[in-house]
Amino acid sequence: LLCDGYARAENPYQAHLLKVLRDRGSLSRAAMSETIGLSRTKVSVELDRLAQLRLINSGGLAPSLGGRRPAIVGTDPDVRFVGVDIGATSVDVAVTDGELRLLGRLSDSINVRQEPDMLSQELGCPVMVDNDVNIMALGEMHAGTARSVEDFLFIKLGTSIGCGIVLQGQLHRGPSGSAGDIGHLQVENLGPACACGNVGCLEAFFSGAALERDALQAARSGQSPALADRLESTGFLTAVDVGVAASSGDPVAVALVRDGARRLGQVIAALVSFINPALVVIGGGVANLGHSLLAEVRSVVYQRSLPLATGNLPIVLSGLPTQGGVIGGARLISDAVLCAPRSAAP
Ligand SMILES: [Zn+2]
Repeated sequence: LLCDGYARAENPYQAHLLKVLRDRGSLSRAAMSETIGLSRTKVSVELDRLAQLRLINSGGLAPSLGGRRPAIVGTDPDVRFVGVDIGATSVDVAVTDGELRLLGRLSDSINVRQEPDMLSQELGCPVMVDNDVNIMALGEMHAGTARSVEDFLFIKLGTSIGCGIVLQGQLHRGPSGSAGDIGHLQVENLGPACACGNVGCLEAFFSGAALERDALQAARSGQSPALADRLESTGFLTAVDVGVAASSGDPVAVALVRDGARRLGQVIAALVSFINPALVVIGGGVANLGHSLLAEVRSVVYQRSLPLATGNLPIVLSGLPTQGGVIGGARLISDAVLCAPRSAAP
């Protein structure tokens, strides 16, 4: 266990070997040597030390291909990482193995404004904290569509709106950690008041909270019979209800999704022209509004960004809608633990 005595790489070679095993799974010693460009002798010395530290298991055998089964090494089966994804309204906790496969997972609803995110040193193991859109981007990079690209944007549509920016395989956070805070870009000169104090912010038009506000208004005013029925039966409305009503053809719900997606598309079009990503992934609790969201965003982006930037640009919904955050959290802490030579550890 990494928590047990802070077992971690002692030098950059060991850190590199551990990250290769995390990202590619079990490999033969020859493949490890080839991948990191070190001699087999040197790789064997480092792997033997990692086995002593109980960070890897070197007793495995590759599947038979007819001849002798080659010996393979993998992360130790007892290595564990914990990823925690704290959103404004929910918390997800997952335990993974050394290759960041989910072993167990718990979700609960919270109100983050009422319960401060208290992290205790009493945990007795290294802890990293980052904002949710960044860890969701890391989850996409590790296990999602973004595995195959170096430069991508992850757009989170949830209680709030944000953008994870990954350039050359690295998260770009900015000097104060606020890079990608696109929810407060102004998309209209006038518009609803935003929690930040301005008006016309993207988030004030199209976050989960904004959709709930507009859905309630449409239900109470009688403009949307579908949303009014839903409100009467459950007592509240969420972005999911708007998506369901839009899918059933309710004109007000369709317009809410289309108008919001158009404004989101305008912002993404500007980002695409500015950053030239290889991929845009849209995720978060509000992303599942149905096909019309993605269709409208794609239409605006392909129309408004320069053809050179959009010529080969997939815009997709996240394939990890409920797991991206916790896998990304495990990726963040595993990066920190696997990269730090012991001498640099606190
Ligand atoms: Zn704002």
